Amino acid sequence: MTQNEKEAMALAVITAGKRMLESSLTVETWGNISVRSETGEICITPSGMSYQEIEPSDLVFLDPEGNVIEGSRIPSIETQMHVRIYQNRPDARAILHTHPVESSVFGVLRKPIPVITDEIAQTIGGEISVAEYALPGSDALAENAVAALGEKNACLLANHGAVCVGKDLAACFKAATVLETGAEIYQKALAVDGCEPVELKADDVKAMYDFAQNRYGQR
Ligand code: 13P
Ligand code: ZN
Repeated sequence: MTQNEKEAMALAVITAGKRMLESSLTVETWGNISVRSETGEICITPSGMSYQEIEPSDLVFLDPEGNVIEGSRIPSIETQMHVRIYQNRPDARAILHTHPVESSVFGVLRKPIPVITDEIAQTIGGEISVAEYALPGSDALAENAVAALGEKNACLLANHGAVCVGKDLAACFKAATVLETGAEIYQKALAVDGCEPVELKADDVKAMYDFAQNRYGQR
């Protein structure tokens, strides 16, 4: 990890913190953010600090096992969750843990959000499962989040929030936004009397995810 790389990681995390707050994907100091370098080091937000005030020197750098290698702040209490997700998802280079409103409705109901829109299929790659409840910051929450994510790009944490993973923070925000709009659509569809939302078929979901990840857009 070069000095330039470190600075770029810090800047990306700081910018994402402000964006998460401004786009109402969290409130106050809740949520946390990390990115992973090509060589496996993790840059994570400090615990309980205002996103408007975090400066590069407040960020904490960790080795792939979660040991602090640089930084004087206490890292996020969800450090273990970030570390365990990276260990299980070699494709993930960024993690965004949000405390959003619309999708948290289903985290509170402990009801998964099925693939009810093309956007969910293309971006998240499957149903949004709810990780079993465990206390914030616990090893159990880390394990439950890993299990609920599987190979998908988002999951809900029961009575808590959401976790999105991606190849970079832009991909995480895409997943977080799709999750919020998908949750809103699902709530509205469920509220229509006498009708049932229709789930997309697994083959179509797989085809759309593959297309969106590998062939959609400009070459
Ligand atoms: P941190 O401020 O320690 O990251 O905790 C916030 C949070 O959302 C815990 O789940
Ligand atoms: Zn949280």
